Amino acid sequence: MANHNLMPCPFCGNHDQKWMRILINDENEKSVRCCKCNADGPIHKFKTLAVRAWNQRKPIEVQDGN
Ligand SMILES: [Zn+2]
Repeated sequence: MANHNLMPCPFCGNHDQKWMRILINDENEKSVRCCKCNADGPIHKFKTLAVRAWNQRKPIEVQDGN
């Protein structure tokens, strides 16, 4: 499996790339999915952009309510 250098899942914190999958929904729609929590990253036309978008998502931050 190619290493896409995916950042940990921003939702569940999974960093095991075995659980990361590049979804190819359509010729023009690719996204990264975390198969642990079924979170989908932003859809992009190119895999590289989908990976980049995933990697740029903010990590989980505790909402402190302030
Ligand atoms: Zn996840």
